[in-house]
Parts: sequence; structure tokens; C-alpha cells
Amino acid sequence: MKIFLSWFVLVVSIAVIVSSCAESEEDKETTASTDNTTSSSDDSSDNSTSTSDNSSTTDTTAPTVSSISSTTDNQSKISVTDNISVTFSEAMDATSVTTNTSDTTCSGSLQFSSDNFSTCVKMSSLPTISNTNKTFTLSPSDNLSNYTSYKTIVTTAVKDSSGNTLSSQFESSSITTVNTEISVVVIYPENIQSWDLGGVDNETFIEAAIARTNAIWNSQDVGGKITLAGHTTIDFSSYSSASSAGWKADLVSALMNHTDTSIHQELQDNLTSIMDAYSADCLIYWRPYGDNSSAVNGASDIENTDKYRCLMQLEYWSMGDTTIFTHEFGHLQGCFHENGYESPSPVTFTYVDNQTYNDYYRTIMKTSNTKSVADNTSLSEVWKFSTPNQTISSSENLTVNCSRHVPSSGGGTSHNDYQCRFASEASLGDNSSTDCLSKVKASINTFPYFR
Ligand SMILES: [Zn+2]
Repeated sequence: MKIFLSWFVLVVSIAVIVSSCAESEEDKETTASTDNTTSSSDDSSDNSTSTSDNSSTTDTTAPTVSSISSTTDNQSKISVTDNISVTFSEAMDATSVTTNTSDTTCSGSLQFSSDNFSTCVKMSSLPTISNTNKTFTLSPSDNLSNYTSYKTIVTTAVKDSSGNTLSSQFESSSITTVNTEISVVVIYPENIQSWDLGGVDNETFIEAAIARTNAIWNSQDVGGKITLAGHTTIDFSSYSSASSAGWKADLVSALMNHTDTSIHQELQDNLTSIMDAYSADCLIYWRPYGDNSSAVNGASDIENTDKYRCLMQLEYWSMGDTTIFTHEFGHLQGCFHENGYESPSPVTFTYVDNQTYNDYYRTIMKTSNTKSVADNTSLSEVWKFSTPNQTISSSENLTVNCSRHVPSSGGGTSHNDYQCRFASEASLGDNSSTDCLSKVKASINTFPYFR
């Protein structure tokens, strides 16, 4: 009798499986029509029938791991702030997908480790579920470590919704973290409020400068982001070795000559203390008006011997300029003026105010103002780093953010910011020497020198 019953069950099971496959198309149609029409009693009874059909289907297929990815992408490099998502081939029994949330002891069916599973990253909560129980996302309780390789294990304790387990333990390949956020601290003398910078507070002013640089970076997929670690007034008037020019001028000298430890060591130590206090990768000295030192912006050169200091100085008005912050940061990222690009001949483009010019243009790192045709102004500057691999192209509607440098009454030029529309595809570089963008991108990975 038992044997007969088993055969009966088997035959019925096969019949159900076959009928389930045959019905799958019909199920879809039922679902679709329910979505698109007001439900009727016929529809709901169809639905309840198909539901009971499905519940008697026997799923014997083991689940597999389809992908493991960070929150933002599927790359082998992830941000220290990323979460980790594990996606299965089918809907899982959510209660079987667990992780460790109390300490760094490896436990649970999803484990994430940087030391081959001697310890595991503590998660802030159980995995969050999405994608109809197929995707489970791990949220580390703290940022991951910089420049560290991690692996994920999925144990055979995970089950699909029918109770089938993973056939063998899954171990991912390594993914490596990159901290793509570069933090800066900005210092300025106490008299900053007297500089007449337009009536906004210091932080708004600094954040706007950082936001412009981040927008320019984003427009060329640099892959990094500048964040403000903090800003503070400084007063080094008690500096014991002050020259006759005063401590503010000496600070400029210390910033620009920081590899020479014989110069203004006490000021160097002050800068180090501030960077340490804010855990900042870089320090920017926002210089006051008239500090007895030549009125220039500057940055340390990090490409050669000088990889352990990320320092920059900006004249008081330069923090508000559209591209100077980006330009000086470009120096910190290894670009020189001669790596910028200047169009070899005039091109025709139109500003958003519909004035059309036939003029030269340049990229951010270029500073020479030798070429000019239209109304005797200096060059027009596109908000891009030079690179031979990109153009201002029709895919962007030939439009790019740009600044037009116009003569200002007190001498020099001021910048008017526009959208420029080029008449035809415009180059951003013509050879390997006009490739700042590659250096800027590569620099994101070199910033650990400063940490
Ligand atoms: Zn420069």
C-alpha cells in the first residue's frame, strides 16, 4: 500500500509539474489583465486557482549566487561607504539569509571579511531584502577600511523559498576599497569678514567653491569628491620667528616651501596640527587681502618628491572664482599649465545670450592669455580638464559650461560664466602632453599619501 501511495504521489507530482509549465503563459496573461483592468470576481477566482497550483509545484533546483556588487556599481573597486549586495538566481527564504550584527566574529550565511574570514565586518542590521527576495544587502556598521581587499562568503545555510540549499559554499573574488573622498580644511586669518566677499558666510562661500570643483570632476567622471572637513580662523601672531613681512606672509612662504624644513618649521608644525585635528587630507590657506606677499594662488606639487603634503593657498578673491579652486587642485593632482589645452585656431561658438564669437578657447589648467581675437578680450575657458580622448561633442549638444574673461576696470580680467555652444565638435586635447584628465583621475588613488 505504501508503495502504491508513493507511485501515486509521484505520478501526481509529475502531472502537476507538467501542468504548471503549461500554465505559466496563462498565469502571465491573468496577471497582466488584472493589472490593466478593474478586477472582477472572475479574475480573482482565476488568481486564487493559479495560486493554489503554484503552491503545489515542487522546486528542486538549488539556488545559485548570481552577483555580488557594491551599492553603486559592479566594479572590483568600491567606496569605503558602499554597501554590499548579494543577488541569487531565485527567490530565497529570507529567514535563511543572515549575517553577524553583534561583533566581528564570523557568523550567519552572508559573511564579509578582509582577513580571510578570521574576523568578519560587523553589520548594522540583518540584510535588507529587495528584488522579490532575490537580493540581500549588507550594511557595514562602520565605513570599510581604506585600500583594503574584502571577500564575501555565502554559506550553504541559505535556502530558496522551497527549502533547497546552495549546493556548495560560494566565495567571491576580492574587491578593493578606494576612499574617493578627499577632505580639506580651510584656514583663514581672523579678519576674513572684512574682505567684502558678497555678504555670505565663510562656510557657504567655501562649500560653493568645492561644489563647483566637484561638478567639474563629475562632468568628466573623475571618480573623486572633495568634502569639507572643517574651516577655522587662525592667529599665529605669537610666531617666534616672524620676519619683517609678518606671520601671514611667512605662512605663504611656509606653504610653498614646505619640503624645506629649515623654513618656518614652527608654522609647518601648526599646519600639521590643524590637519590632524580635522583629519584632513589637504589644507587650504585662504589668504587675506594685502598680506605683504605676492598676490598669487599656489599649490604644492605632489607628483615628484613631495607626496606627503597637500597644501594650497588661495588669494581672498579666488575662493569665489569659478575655476581657480579646480585649477589649483589640478596642480595637486599632477597637472601643470603646459598640460592644459588651448585651441590652435579660433572656433565659432555662441554664448547663451546668443552672442556669437570666433575665438580661441582653453581648458582649466591653461593660463596663457596670448591669443585673443574677439573684442580684444582674453580667452574663453571651458570647465573641463584637457584630454585627447574627449571632445565637446554633439552628444552633449556641443554645449559646455564656460567662462568668458573680460577686462575689469581695475586691470586684469573678471569672469562671466555661461553655457557655450560650439558650432562643431571641439577638441579638449590633441596629444599625450595635453592630458590632465588622466592625471586627475589617477590622483584619486594617490591621495592615501596624505592620510
Ligand atoms: Zn596654476
